[in-house]
Parts: sequence; C-alpha cells; structure tokens
Amino acid sequence: MSPKPNSIASRDIAYCLHPYTNARAHEKKGPLVITHGKGIEVFDDQGKSYIEGMAGLWSTSLGFSEERLVEAAAKQMRALPFYHGFTHKTAIPAVELSEKLIAMAPVPMSKVIFANSGSEANDTIVKLVWYYNNALGRPEKKKIISRVKGYHGVTVATASMTGLPVNQTDFDLPINNILHTSCPHYWRFGKEGESEEAFASRMACELEEMILSEGPETIAAFIGEPVMGAGGVIIPPATYWEKIQTVLRKHDILLIADEVICGFGRTGNSFGSQTFGIEPDIMSMAKALSSSYLPISAVMLNDKFYQVIADNSDKIGVLGHGFTYSGHPVCAAVALETLKIYEERNLFAQVAETGAHLQNRLAAFKDHPLVGEVRGIGLIAGVELVQNKRTKESFSPAGKVGTYLNERAVEEGLIIRNMGDTIAFCPPLIITDDQIDQMIGRFAKALEKTLDWTR
Ligand code: PLP
Repeated sequence: MSPKPNSIASRDIAYCLHPYTNARAHEKKGPLVITHGKGIEVFDDQGKSYIEGMAGLWSTSLGFSEERLVEAAAKQMRALPFYHGFTHKTAIPAVELSEKLIAMAPVPMSKVIFANSGSEANDTIVKLVWYYNNALGRPEKKKIISRVKGYHGVTVATASMTGLPVNQTDFDLPINNILHTSCPHYWRFGKEGESEEAFASRMACELEEMILSEGPETIAAFIGEPVMGAGGVIIPPATYWEKIQTVLRKHDILLIADEVICGFGRTGNSFGSQTFGIEPDIMSMAKALSSSYLPISAVMLNDKFYQVIADNSDKIGVLGHGFTYSGHPVCAAVALETLKIYEERNLFAQVAETGAHLQNRLAAFKDHPLVGEVRGIGLIAGVELVQNKRTKESFSPAGKVGTYLNERAVEEGLIIRNMGDTIAFCPPLIITDDQIDQMIGRFAKALEKTLDWTR
C-alpha cells in the first residue's frame, strides 16, 4: 500500500536518503514512522507500540523516556548551550565527564578526548596511533589489524577497519595499511573435535603469522570489540582475549578496545574489557555513554600513549585534531547524568541478573528447527538461523529468512535486527524480567510464522 500524499511517509520517500537501507526498496515500502517512546517501548504514527529489542541501535540504555536526561540537557542549554575545547578552553561538563570516565576505566587511563559518534572516536584513534608512531620515529609502524566481521564505523578509515563487505563495496575501501584477521566464531569456524581453547590458540597463531609475515615493525595496533556486535553478536571463545593479548605484547602492538556497544553495562560490567580480561591501551565508547539521547563519544588513552602524543603536540605546536562539537557541553551534561543514573540504580549489576534471564529464555530456542546457534552474554544476544541444523548450512540467499522474521516480529510489536540470518537482541538496560518474557513471547510467534514460511 503506497503512503497517503503529503503524509510523513510519502514526504520521507520524497526527501530522505536513509542510512543502511535499500533506497529502491524504500521507495516502494516506505518508512516505519516512530513518533514517541516510553520506557522500553516506541510507538508508531498509528499508535501501535513496539518493544525496542535493540535499544534503537544497541544504544538507548535507559529507554525512551528518562526525564532526568531531558532536564540535564535543558539545564545545561540554559547555562551554556555551546562551548568547545580548542585552544585551552574548556566547559565544566566535559571536565567532569572526563574525570568520571577515568575513574570508571577498567585499567589505569590518563586522558579523554571527545567526539560525536563511534566512527569519529575510532577514526580519532587511528590518527592518534599514526601520530604516536611518527613521534616515536617509527614511520613504518602504521598498519592496524582488525577482524573479519568486526564493526568499527563507516568513515573512510573506520569502514576500512570494519570487516563487512557492504561497508567497503564500491566505496573504494579499504584504504592501505588495514589488515583483517580471522573472526573468532567458534561455532561457525571451529574444526571438528577442536575445543574452544584450541580454537582460540589457532586464532592467536593466525594473528601472529600475519604479524610475522607483514613484519612486526609495520604493525601499530589491533582493534577489537570485546563482543562483536554488528558482525552477528559473536562471543569470544574461552581464552581468546588472553592469547591475543600475549601475541600483541610480544610484538609491541597497541590494543584498542572498541567499547561502543559493550561499554556501560551491556555485558554486566562497566566495560566489556572487564568481562573478558582485556587490558587496552586505548578505548572508544559512545552509544550508552549518553543513552544515545545526544551524540557524544569518547576515546580514553593510557599514560604511555598520552605522553608521546603530548610531546609531539609540543614539538609541532598544536595537536591538530578535534571536532567543533568535541565535548559539547549539553551532550557531556547528559552523559554525566546518564552515568549518575547507572550508578544510583546499580544498573550494571541488575544487567548481570536480567541478562542471565534473557540468555536462559533464549537458550530454549536451541532445539528449534530453524535455530543453529543461540549465543550471548548480559543483555546482548544473537540467534543464528540455518537451513540445516546438523550441517550448519546457512540459508541462501543470506538474509532473506532473517529479514522475513524481522518483518513478522514488527507485526508482533517487536523491533529486533537481523544481521543476515542472525537475529540480534540488545534491549535497553532497564528491561525487567517480565518485559524480557513479553519480548521472547513475541519473538517466538514471529519465529513460528517464519518456520511455516520456510516449509
Ligand atoms: N563501533 C562499534 C562496535 C559499533 O557497534 C558502532 C556502531 O554500531 C560503531 C563503532 C560506530 O558508531 P557510530 O554509528 O556512532 O559511528
């Protein structure tokens, strides 16, 4: 059914080019118009409600109606709606937020630099890593290793690090000096009879082989998400991070933890790095930093890294990097209030409990004929659909069945996201056990309809 003339939907089709959307399909299908939100739900322009099983884009941790964040923004807007951090200026919220983040860091960190999105944070890191090695007189130590199916953003450098074809095809990416090592998905890539630990050792060996064949003197950094999100919610196998870090230390390679999804409670700890024993030199964070109410991201650096950057800025005369909105006072004030709420409500500990409930409920789908693997930790999970449960054969074409299920879920009043044929769950951190049960009930109905359709 085509949208009514002059409706929001028809104006959307007329004027908007949507991110991560097939533009031609959108011209026919039109948008789902979301008008407001309450708690873990959002509502469309017909008044229908949906459980937001993805917290928007893995991000709206406090749900869609947290008045305290609205108040924090309004208060800061009245006091100082904009200021910046260039040329020795500062505004109070950016200072307080930096101090708070350093206090929360999973390992000793020294400084924070702000940006507006996860992509910008990771892009900033790439530049700082290059700057660092130039400063140290190692101009050849520039390559960055990320992973197949890793997701780090969509700017020129970060889309190059992202290990997903759609982010590179016809964009003339990746750029030089970006390498991809294997995706640590044990269920999919583990060999017959190989234990999780043996698989992790193999992943670490492959990484080391890549480093040795390229020359360790050319490898600057390794970037990884503690749990891969957009690549299909891939939980690292036991001992993976420990083994990867041993290789990196041996070859003097910096470790960048991309905490854009895992940061702020998603895995039941402040950071995914704590959950998996990761000791990064540099971290990026965004999304739940402000519950996504306003755009803000941050990069945290350890002191060893900072000292070199600081000396080089002194040598050149300035650190020639920064965005107009880096540390925007309104965004920083909202982020600070978000962190206060997490603490007051002891939300990360709550996630450890509600997360266990979500994982238990989803585990029940393991025997379903369409389900190959159920995986997750805390309040993030993936359900991978397969053509053949025994052989793990995927559906062809990839994503068709996942998309069908996604559409049935929307009919049931549930927003989830299919990455190919893996269905992701990443609800707001405030979700309760009862709400998880409702979410699972809606998912179960959509899955049954999908099963009927595939038969
Ligand atoms: N890093 C990770 C792990 C992400 O999941 C994302 C976005 O989903 C990004 C970086 C990029 O963030 P943004 O979309 O804010 O640029």
